[in-house]
Amino acid sequence: MKALDELTFDNRFARLGDGFSTHVLPEPIDAPRLVVASNAAMALLDLDPAIAQTPVFAELFSGHKLWAEAEPRAMVYSGHQFGSYNPQLGDGRGLLLGEVYNAAGEHWDLHLKGAGQTPYSRMGDGRAVLRSSIREFLASEALHALGIPSSRALCVIGSDTPVWREKQERAAMVLRLAPSHIRFGHFEYFYYTQKTELHQQLAEHVLSLHFPECQEQPEPYLAMFREIVERNAELIAKWQAYGFCHGVMNTDNMSILGITFDFGPFAFLDDFDAHFICNHSDHEGRYSFSNQVPIGQWNLSALAQALTPHISVDALRETLGLYLPLYQAHYLDLMRRRLGLTSAEDDDQKLVERLLQLMQNSGVDYTLFFRRLGDESAALAVAQLRDDFVDLNGFDTWADLYKARVERDGNSPQAERRERMHAVNPLYILRNYLAQNAITAAESGDYHEVRRLHEVLSKPFEEQAGMEQYAQRPPDWGKHLEISCSS
Ligand code: AMP
Ligand code: MG
Repeated sequence: MKALDELTFDNRFARLGDGFSTHVLPEPIDAPRLVVASNAAMALLDLDPAIAQTPVFAELFSGHKLWAEAEPRAMVYSGHQFGSYNPQLGDGRGLLLGEVYNAAGEHWDLHLKGAGQTPYSRMGDGRAVLRSSIREFLASEALHALGIPSSRALCVIGSDTPVWREKQERAAMVLRLAPSHIRFGHFEYFYYTQKTELHQQLAEHVLSLHFPECQEQPEPYLAMFREIVERNAELIAKWQAYGFCHGVMNTDNMSILGITFDFGPFAFLDDFDAHFICNHSDHEGRYSFSNQVPIGQWNLSALAQALTPHISVDALRETLGLYLPLYQAHYLDLMRRRLGLTSAEDDDQKLVERLLQLMQNSGVDYTLFFRRLGDESAALAVAQLRDDFVDLNGFDTWADLYKARVERDGNSPQAERRERMHAVNPLYILRNYLAQNAITAAESGDYHEVRRLHEVLSKPFEEQAGMEQYAQRPPDWGKHLEISCSS
């Protein structure tokens, strides 16, 4: 276990030079206090969790103090936002404080979001509000606990500093951790500005630090792109299987590591709805739940375009062609497991699609359906779940197909079936209304709820005594919350 002043820095991105980022000092926020910290994230840095309670912790992650070895930098990038190219983006309110490596030899970027203005702030104030910082913290750690790759969050620090959004709010900072903060938009920036040497330097950096195994391949950059395609196909399959809607899949919010990144008005589905749009400024539904799949491919094509200096167009096109089949294979594998199946049959995709269609028409809770399906034998479970459906004939037909399928799968003993299914079907997910309750309490200075919710979501598959209320469907007020896009 390390103390805070024992972190070991190795700022590899900063060493790339001024063409990639600008030195900027964090601008502190007033009266910093710990809102919530993640013990699991502390462990990634070998930090003793008790340290989070010390004043110096809040000072470090609110811009009041800085390690001598830190090198705070705002990164430059660009990207396609809602389909249109924006030539100049960058860290407008976040700073890469430096890269730290742990005892296992892993490097983690320390990125402080809400750290003040930078040359890339455009018209923004460089701040993040408490509400969006809490949402990012909870989502990062909850996704990780579900087994969905994500950037991580060490802590949220609240303050008295006023900031203006639709109304006056308080500034906060969230400390984000990821092995890299390089986005698709980084490659796009150097490609479209025709900074050939810097583009080459970036590609070399990413290849050697983040895809070292690809260096052994005959065409290292192609192997790297293929790996990025594979990781994104797998990531998006997990989002779809667990009902996560990102909301702002612009290419500047896509990580080259294939992790969930840059949280905005995201949501987990309550009722299953393939057409769900969590982002209220997304009028066309570009980033609706089901559109995330083709948009994943669209974003990879944007990255492919930016990699044309290194890889032939034919090879890029062929590799892009792997995305959909890979996505489908991962998705189907996850859905089979969610249904408790251990074998594969050709018609399984249809079985899943039919179920989702029935759920869509009846407004069935996506998370609880699968959890309850594992509570009992297939026959008993479908009999109990039947009442949730409007189209009873349709459901009965599906239930017969499902029972027959479970039979052919080997009909494992119920205790075994339950254990297997509960290990992949969470009881607790970050529902918008739960996040909202925690935010409302935190905004009035009470951090118990956000800490408790974080704790519950850190073990989403495990039934936790006394925490029944966190597994409930939303009350009426919490069903269609409009999550503000301002953050
Ligand atoms: P986002 O929608 O959070 O992914 O941000 C898109 C771009 O706007 C990024 O370049 C951000 O750094 C920048 N940005 C967002 N909010 C602010 C803010 N309050 N101040 C300065 N820049 C911001
Ligand atoms: Mg962003």
